Amino acid sequence: MSGDEFMARGLCAQTDPEAFFPAKGGPTRDAKRICQGCDVKPECLAYALSHDERHGVWGGLSERERRKLRRDRNLPSRAQLRDADKRDTARRMHATGSTRAEIARTLHTDFRRVNAYLSDPQTDHPAAS
Ligand code: SF4
Repeated sequence: MSGDEFMARGLCAQTDPEAFFPAKGGPTRDAKRICQGCDVKPECLAYALSHDERHGVWGGLSERERRKLRRDRNLPSRAQLRDADKRDTARRMHATGSTRAEIARTLHTDFRRVNAYLSDPQTDHPAAS
C-alpha cells in the first residue's frame, strides 16, 4: 500500500489534522487515541519509520517515541536514507551508461562522492519494519 493509499484510509483524514501536528511540546494524546482505532496504523508507522518522518503523530507514536524506536531498531537516519538513494541512483545511471560527470551533475555532488557510491560494496540499508 502506498503512502497516498493508507493516508486516504486513515482516521486522521476525517479529523482535525492539527491534532496530529501539534506545536513542539504540544499534546499528542487526542491524536494517539484516534490512531488506536485506525485500520492502517501498522502501515502508517512503517511509512513514518522508513521515511524518517520527524514531525507529528504517525502510527500512534509521537516524534520522541519514534526517535526512540528508530534508535532501538538501529534504523538509518534521513541523511543515511538520502545517501542510500543517491548511491542507488548513481549505480542505476552508471549501469545504463551515464558518465561520472553526468552522475555528479544529476546528484549535485562531486567526482569523489560518485566514485564512493560506485565502489561502495554496501547495497542495502537496514529496512524499516
Ligand atoms: S495511524 Fe494515526 S496518523 Fe496514521 S493514518 Fe491512522 S489515524 Fe492517521
